[in-house]
Amino acid sequence: MPRTAAALISEAKEFIPGGVNSATRNFGAPYAFRDSQGAYLTDYDGRRYVDYHAAFGAILLGHSDERVTAAVTQSLNGLDLVGLGVSELEVEVARMVAKLIPSVEKSVTTMSGTEATMQAVRLARGVTGRKYLLKFQGCFHGWGDAVARNVASPADRIGTVDPLSTGILEDALGSTLVADFNDLDSVRALYERYPDQIAAIILEPVPHNVGALLPDQSFLEGLREITKAEGSILIFDEVITGFRHAPGGYQELCGITPDLTSYGKSMGNGFAVAGLGGRADLMDNFSSAGGGVMLAGTFNGGPVSMAAAIATMTVASDPEVGMHEYTGRLGARMRDGLRDITTELGIAAHVTGLGSVFICYFMDREPKSYNDLLENNDVAYATFHRRMTDRGFVMYPMTLKRNHISLAHTEADIDLTLEAAREVLQEMK
Ligand code: PLP
Repeated sequence: MPRTAAALISEAKEFIPGGVNSATRNFGAPYAFRDSQGAYLTDYDGRRYVDYHAAFGAILLGHSDERVTAAVTQSLNGLDLVGLGVSELEVEVARMVAKLIPSVEKSVTTMSGTEATMQAVRLARGVTGRKYLLKFQGCFHGWGDAVARNVASPADRIGTVDPLSTGILEDALGSTLVADFNDLDSVRALYERYPDQIAAIILEPVPHNVGALLPDQSFLEGLREITKAEGSILIFDEVITGFRHAPGGYQELCGITPDLTSYGKSMGNGFAVAGLGGRADLMDNFSSAGGGVMLAGTFNGGPVSMAAAIATMTVASDPEVGMHEYTGRLGARMRDGLRDITTELGIAAHVTGLGSVFICYFMDREPKSYNDLLENNDVAYATFHRRMTDRGFVMYPMTLKRNHISLAHTEADIDLTLEAAREVLQEMK
């Protein structure tokens, strides 16, 4: 007998805490999908959706892309996981990453973005011998203890230690300092307070964990100058922006070269693979190169994830495919359409994003910082994403979550989405 979504969701709750395997997967109503192809998801009740959630951005080429599937299948016919030495696939991934990402000379692979940022922070502390890490309110870098504070903080937690979880030692949280995005003065103030003690600055160059907070170029340049002058490591966390905004990530677009870069998500188009790369002299401090900074992982560089990464990076960087040009064009069509609709309906909205990413903030201008969003974005409009999803267009049901367009979406998908958005926004007026 075919399963219904409700039956599966209820069974999941018996065996999996909360019924899901990742904290933010049951935000709002529960879902259970049984099929994913191209731009579409089908749930256990047979209902088809256009997917803009894209597994938090991990889907770049479209679901179940046949080029990636073929490469992964082929990898299963050769070497599986060995755990000694290196494989040809691992060398090819490192070679491609060094070619694509401007700041990367050497790199390692991990299974998740969380591990990549954990390695970056440990490397920065190991190399500089300093204690503090500086992050920005609103940026998310995974769930490692060092970075697990002050992401989507509520208003009464701004300026305080706002941990993502219980169970993290105060020492770990206290060794991370928090500044405001797009605000160099808040960064300088922390350097004055902790002279010669800040090992690294870590940031999402475009904080997509709060939608699409666009960086001032002068802010990014300022961070580069400050870290150079102060002897700190600059870490770009490109786990979302990497491969998505350009083959070389956002650093290719802004022309600023960080010391270390973490990436992941879309790197394997849905297969588990991430990594950390950067200057060779820094990366050679890892234990794998005879240095003192521990780097290990049973599944690092496994053939399935390597094959998926090679296939995805190959398609995403192929000028004949023109992925970034295509998804950017669809992104602009979506953003322009949403702007026209909100203007016509007289809704105070700011539609923004970059390339394949779009978001509709419900405030009347470009937000500058997380605090600005908190104060001025109308959260009642989380309902917009919820109602769009109810109508068959999956948008993560939070006001601050971005939406992603893949190579598999079409103009017709965008136009249908805009028709539905018009109806939803009209209802919400
Ligand atoms: N860094 C950023 C910018 C992220 O958005 C995420 C995940 O959302 C991570 C790191 C952690 O990656 P993962 O979920 O693969 O551990």
